[in-house]
Order: sequence, then C-alpha cells, then structure tokens
Amino acid sequence: MNLENIKQQKTPFYYYDLALLNETLEDAKINAQKYNYHIHYALKANTNTKILQPIKELGFGADCVSGNEVLRALEVGFAPAEIAFAGVGKSDEEINIGLDNDIFAFNCESIEEIEVINELAKAKNKIAKIALRLNPNVDAKTHKYITTGLEENKFGINSWELENIIDILPKLENIVLTGLHFHIGSQITSMTPFKNLCIRVNELNTWFKEQNIEIKHLNLGGGLGIDYNEPEANPIPDFELFFGVFNQFLEPFPHQEIHFELGRSLVANCGSLISKVLYIKKGIKTNFAILDAGMTELIRPAIYQAYHNIENLTSTSNEVEFYDVVGPICESSDCFGKRVQLKETKRGDFIKIHSTGAYGEVMSSKYNLREPNPVIYKD
Ligand SMILES: *Cc1c(COP(=O)(O)O)cnc(C)c1O
Repeated sequence: MNLENIKQQKTPFYYYDLALLNETLEDAKINAQKYNYHIHYALKANTNTKILQPIKELGFGADCVSGNEVLRALEVGFAPAEIAFAGVGKSDEEINIGLDNDIFAFNCESIEEIEVINELAKAKNKIAKIALRLNPNVDAKTHKYITTGLEENKFGINSWELENIIDILPKLENIVLTGLHFHIGSQITSMTPFKNLCIRVNELNTWFKEQNIEIKHLNLGGGLGIDYNEPEANPIPDFELFFGVFNQFLEPFPHQEIHFELGRSLVANCGSLISKVLYIKKGIKTNFAILDAGMTELIRPAIYQAYHNIENLTSTSNEVEFYDVVGPICESSDCFGKRVQLKETKRGDFIKIHSTGAYGEVMSSKYNLREPNPVIYKD
C-alpha cells in the first residue's frame, strides 16, 4: 500500500487488494477441482461488483440470500444455472425473481415455503428446482450469532419434519427436489465441525436413498474461517485442508455433485478499512484513539465482538502504547478493539483495520447520516 497515495484520500475508505483476491480464488479453485467440487460464492459477504467480476470470471457460481442478490449476480453475468437462492424468509416477489430466471435451486427452509414456491411456480407454468436445507444439529463451535446448524437456530428443516416433507413432496407438481443443503455457521477454524457435518450428511443422504428419492447434489454450505489474528502471515485460508476433510469423510453416491458456498474465506483478507485518527483522549485506565471510521463502516466488532487486527500505518514513533480504538458514532458498542497495542498514535495518523473484505462494506449503514464509503482498488 503506497502511503503517499493513501494520505491524499478522503477517509474512511475501503481498500481492496485485487491481486490477493485473485490469488485466493485461484487457490480455492485448484483445491476444489481436485475432487470435482463446485464452489458458489456467497454474495452476502461482499456484493461489490469489482469483487464479483473476478469471481464470476474464474467460473464460480453464486449463492444468494435475497432477490436483489440474485439480480446482482445476474447483472454481473453469473449464469442462472449457477445461482442458488437460500434464506429463511423469501418473499413471493423474491421467489418470482428466481422462477423467472430459472435458477439452479431454491434452498428451502420450511414446509410452508416449499408449498408457496410450488404455488408460484404453478402460476408461471414452471417446475422449480429445490434443495432442502436440513438442520444437521452440528455445533460449529463459533460465535453464537454466527452458529446456524443447531436445532435451536431458526435455520433449516429439522429431522423430525422429514417424513412429513417426503409425504407432501409428490403432491407438489411444480417443484422437483434436486439437492440437500447444509450450512452450519461461519468463521469455523477447526476442521472437527466439518468432519461431524460429513458424518451427519452421510446418514441423511442414505436415508433419502432408502426412501427411493434421488438426490442429485449435496451442498455443504460455507463457513471456513480466516486468520483474523495474523492476516499478513496467513492471507489465504487452508483450502487444501478444508476440501481434503470432505474428500476424506463425505461418502456421496456415484454421480452426486458436491457444492460449497464459501463467502468469508474467499474475500475477507483482500479488504481493509483505512481510517484517520481524529483525536486521542486520555482515559482513566486507557487512552482512546478516536477514528473517523465507526460501526457504520464496520459493524462486526459491535455485533459479534469480532476481532480485527489494527495497525498504525504512519506513526514513526518507536514507542508502543495501548489504546481503546473507537469510532465517532453515538453508541458505546462503537469500538473496534480494547487495549490495542499500537505505535504511539497521534491525531492525523492513518489506521488500517485488517481483514474487512467480508461482512464489512456490505454491512455499512447510514446511521447518524453517515456518507457512503469511498473505495480504492489495487490491481
Ligand atoms: C452466509 C452463508 C454462507 C457463507 O458463509 P461464510 O461463512 O461467509 O463462508 C453460505 N451459505 C449460506 C446459506 C449462508 O447463509
């Protein structure tokens, strides 16, 4: 990152390293291809078109969680046959967007939703392809707000509903079941939950076979974590290990396609948020470094207690000190990190918040009438 360039820019701004993005995508792709796995990029992590473009060009599919994400994916040029549409609360309007575009599959999360899709498809004289999002009851061992695969979570169809669903399915003439879908959570850094997922998927997959229901694809979701602690030492997640676990433990039947929906692991480390220090305020126990970026630009620390590595880019001091690094928004949760060790920091210094390429810019808000973030790209 060229410092002189940065100093000319209006802050705060998002900064994307497109070379690192490409390297990450290539690595994921090579490791997935070893086993003929298909990757759909989970758009919700970052819907910036400059980020979507290379993802599409490398041949990834798209995983969308709203009608507008489906439209964005189409706009960027993802093929409809490569677009999966997930989400626990799809509106009729959103379902119709999927139907009109003949997408790859609706990942369905309740009986009522399946019935509504059937009705809407009937009205259009279409057959909708659906996958059942099953709740595998596997603990992802991640933050509770980003755990999705437990029976207590709102997501997915629980195992006790399955019999009922397969009784109903043959009566619904405008849908066809093509796949099973799973997603147990996000920022998962241990491979154990993924191994446990495989074991559960094998059981469920076998159960469907025993019912004589043909399942064409298994979609294992996303959730692979990144190294937020040392993003510069480990910029690219271990895709080889990740896909290797599925190759080792998943037992698909011949001809079943295997799909994944990776979000964070593909885009998080290529982004950072650059901000300027407005003020240093002496506290009782700690000093506050008050930035011009706040939770309106990056909300993850406020809502998930997420850790981001923070660096002073411009201080030339040899001293280090501890700071609570906070934003200007009128909320106490507007804090990027407590007792963060930084080079001695002054008004006007430039601060880099690392690993903000996923769930950063997309989650920014206009609260306090904040302005949209400028974005800078490095090719
Ligand atoms: C959010 C989400 C993903 C992507 O999760 P990451 O942790 O970013 O990889 C994949 N599938 C579904 C259904 C999701 O909701």
